[in-house]
Amino acid sequence: MSILVSCLGFPRIGPHRELKKALEDFWSGQTTANALLHQAKALRADAWVRQHDAGITVIPSNDFSLYDHVLDTSVLVGAVPEVYLLPRGPVALDTYFAMARGTHGRSGCDLRALEMTKWFDTNYHYMVPEFLSDQDFELCTTKPVDEFREALALGIKTRPVLLGPVTFLRLGKSVGEKFDTLRLLPALLPVYVEVLKQLAAEGADWVQIDEPCLVQDLSDQAKDALRTTYQTLAAAVPGVKLMLTTYFGGLGDNLETALTLPVAGLHLDLVRAPEQLKDVLRKAPGGLVLSLGVIDGRNIWRSNLPAKLNTIEPVLTWWKPEQLMLGPSCSLLHCPIDLDLETDLDPDLKSWLAFAAQKLDELAILGRALNEGRAVVTDALAASADAAERRRTSPKIHNRAVKGRLEAVTPDMTRRASPFQVRRAAQRQHLALPLYPTTTIGSFPQTKQVRDARSAHAKGALDDAAYEAFLRQETEACVKWQEDVGLDVLVHGEFERNDMVQYFGEQLSGFAFTKHAWVQSYGSRYVRPPIIYGDVSRPQAMTVKWTKYAQSLTAKPMKGMLTGPVTILQWSFVRDDEERDTVCSQIALALRDEVADLEAAGINIIQVDEPAIREGLPLRKKDWDFYLAWAVKAFRLASSGVGDATQIHTHMCYAEFNDIIEAIGALDADVISIETARSKMELLEAFAQYRYPNEIGPGVYDIHSPRCPTVDEIVALLKRAAECVPADQIWVNPDCGLKTRKWEEVRPALANMVEAARHLRNARVLV
Ligand code: GLN
Ligand code: ZN
Repeated sequence: MSILVSCLGFPRIGPHRELKKALEDFWSGQTTANALLHQAKALRADAWVRQHDAGITVIPSNDFSLYDHVLDTSVLVGAVPEVYLLPRGPVALDTYFAMARGTHGRSGCDLRALEMTKWFDTNYHYMVPEFLSDQDFELCTTKPVDEFREALALGIKTRPVLLGPVTFLRLGKSVGEKFDTLRLLPALLPVYVEVLKQLAAEGADWVQIDEPCLVQDLSDQAKDALRTTYQTLAAAVPGVKLMLTTYFGGLGDNLETALTLPVAGLHLDLVRAPEQLKDVLRKAPGGLVLSLGVIDGRNIWRSNLPAKLNTIEPVLTWWKPEQLMLGPSCSLLHCPIDLDLETDLDPDLKSWLAFAAQKLDELAILGRALNEGRAVVTDALAASADAAERRRTSPKIHNRAVKGRLEAVTPDMTRRASPFQVRRAAQRQHLALPLYPTTTIGSFPQTKQVRDARSAHAKGALDDAAYEAFLRQETEACVKWQEDVGLDVLVHGEFERNDMVQYFGEQLSGFAFTKHAWVQSYGSRYVRPPIIYGDVSRPQAMTVKWTKYAQSLTAKPMKGMLTGPVTILQWSFVRDDEERDTVCSQIALALRDEVADLEAAGINIIQVDEPAIREGLPLRKKDWDFYLAWAVKAFRLASSGVGDATQIHTHMCYAEFNDIIEAIGALDADVISIETARSKMELLEAFAQYRYPNEIGPGVYDIHSPRCPTVDEIVALLKRAAECVPADQIWVNPDCGLKTRKWEEVRPALANMVEAARHLRNARVLV
């Protein structure tokens, strides 16, 4: 028997974030391009050798990227917007990074970066390709071939990875005239043919071609495009076998389409969609090689290998072993690299985890068990089953009180006591705010001083008392400044917070944090998501001390600041032994207690930030309602336990609300602040059309830019807003938190914002 064991992609960043360092040193001019490329080459070699040594037989190449694989694809096919281009031909490293990051005045001009957005439903961001209506394509780099050769020189014949042409076009956007990017397929395919021919000439037998769009809702046109693509490629390059990879979900109603494509192999995500296997086995043509994605590439949990084998072995009665491969569900890009580096983790928790390196081992063990019989890996299988059993029954995971509390949740706990109009009257009376009340989104500049103090405290160089004193000083200065500038609803500034999710996770039970488990968020920016491993509860109040202290400094209302349950869930690795909605409700209950404690401490305005609600939307439309229902319920569970006079705010910072406007209405927050400045309030139209009944703070200036908005500009935006929404529903605030800005930028901007609000109030009085 010979089932091949494959990997679809390995993390690029290096176990010690070597790539980040190499990139940043290069960008800052400390090192040369050669040094960067040398480091990149070493990282690729390490990854190949590691996979080879682990017993992986089908090893990917061209999965590496200096910045982003979608950007690599744009550059490969010559989809480089004219602004970045010198003459046509090979794309220089400078051009590549200009597309990735803009140029900030280097070489005398300021080039913008390409837009960035989320890669499917992950927290990885890709650079959005841009296409002109008469876009032409041309092979502009030799990266796939170069990296294939590079591995060959190490004695490893790899399976190169390409982003599929249909997915690539769908991920891009048209510029200038609006058109369906799939229209460009005929122009694009010759470049893919050329790449495949080059790879074939170098000796590649297989090429992995990623079409994750196959797990999304596809139009007939898109299905046609897939057929055209694979017929063209198969006819033009018959010598290369294509492994068509789908991941992040099941094929669903695209199954028939996928099975008629003339490809040699099909990869299935059997972690997200195990149920699709039966259908595929029934309907797939006999000669197709099936690649079974059985190890979770999106999460960090160790598998129960004997249980996995129980689901894989029956496949052998249907399919010949020579026509089967095993693999992770998707590329391991979304996993941290090596669990062995985590020397401080609780040993029990550690025994339940597997990062990318450990997942390779798991795949190899499964492969051996299938090919040589379970007996050759008895110990490894037993250890895996044992860890799974210890995890299942561990008291560290299960908290009866939490489970009981969740079961006892009644519908009235997810509803405010009174309808909005009644609450509004109570809040007006209680808070006595002016028309066009001004506020901010929560954070104030996280200066170098703040960050230095935090890291000194973490290292023990600054003791608790000194750190506390420092934070008090910062908070006090911030509150005083807000009073002086004339803001109506103040915030404490969030100086004590490292990150809006981590800060809460560190204080909740059921969460763990790692030292080295970085995953790429975009480019050289990596994150270390918290791990939610057990039932979530709140041992003690998390924010009351700082909020109360800030309130004690002023007679103006102080807004309490919490991160919402969906956002905490969305930005963490979540346990896989419990449904996501259950975990989310547990977080919501913990936050509900925090909200109650804030209210009891005299805080009358509480903001529950949910910037991640929209990005949690499932890939298939049919799954949206279910998701939105539990997401909304979790927010309401967290925020509804307060009296009428307590005002609940929420904040979301993205620009496409149309899809989810009803769910936003259903949150029933008294006030929502949103990002609108960049779209010049266009986005408010969704709210106007929907007749959004509650109050709304459309962001009046873009905090992502250092530019200071003028009073006139803000007045104009607010006037536009007042055309969409009644003036007495409008709040005045920036687009998002100010933590990434400098005080020199924040001070004049907020002063102008306050001035603009005053101007409108006075104008209104005159009318
Ligand atoms: N309250 C947070 C802040 O001001 C909100 C951040 C966010 O929306 N991402 O920083
Ligand atoms: Zn925001």
